[in-house]
Amino acid sequence: MNCNEYPQSKWVAPTDRRPVFQRMHGILELAREVESALGAHAANAGRPSIQLVAKLRRLNKALAGYTFKPHFPDPPRFFLIWRSLDPERVIPSEHRAVLSLLKLLELKLLYRVRSCSQCTTWFFARYRHGKFCKTVCQQKHYALSPEFKDGRRSYMREYRRKHGY
Ligand SMILES: [Zn+2]
Repeated sequence: MNCNEYPQSKWVAPTDRRPVFQRMHGILELAREVESALGAHAANAGRPSIQLVAKLRRLNKALAGYTFKPHFPDPPRFFLIWRSLDPERVIPSEHRAVLSLLKLLELKLLYRVRSCSQCTTWFFARYRHGKFCKTVCQQKHYALSPEFKDGRRSYMREYRRKHGY
């Protein structure tokens, strides 16, 4: 949800309290619960649990306000897009965020949507253990770690000793 309505400089974090983000966080959390319950169900291979059915119903209820219609844009591009049936109520970036979230849930990749360990922005982890949205955040995080500070202190002590400060 970092598009037209929200400038790129204002990244979206879980702490964002605007209603549109609160709605998306709610759907994301529900979808995560469904993804994890589906994983447990697949492992048991039995009848779906009451909890799984209840979670799916809650997710369906949260998604009921989003309505789409399939549409193929004019040539030369040829691909399917889903247009909102209620563009007055649902802003384009919320519409796209819901579609992306559903796609990731379908691909069982929702667990890769995380909050950055440094700046808390939401991001899609390319790697299974990815914890940071960008390299700069990773470097900042380690620069603040006690191990890095100790290492830096020893290095500076040695540097000062060598250069006679
Ligand atoms: Zn970050």
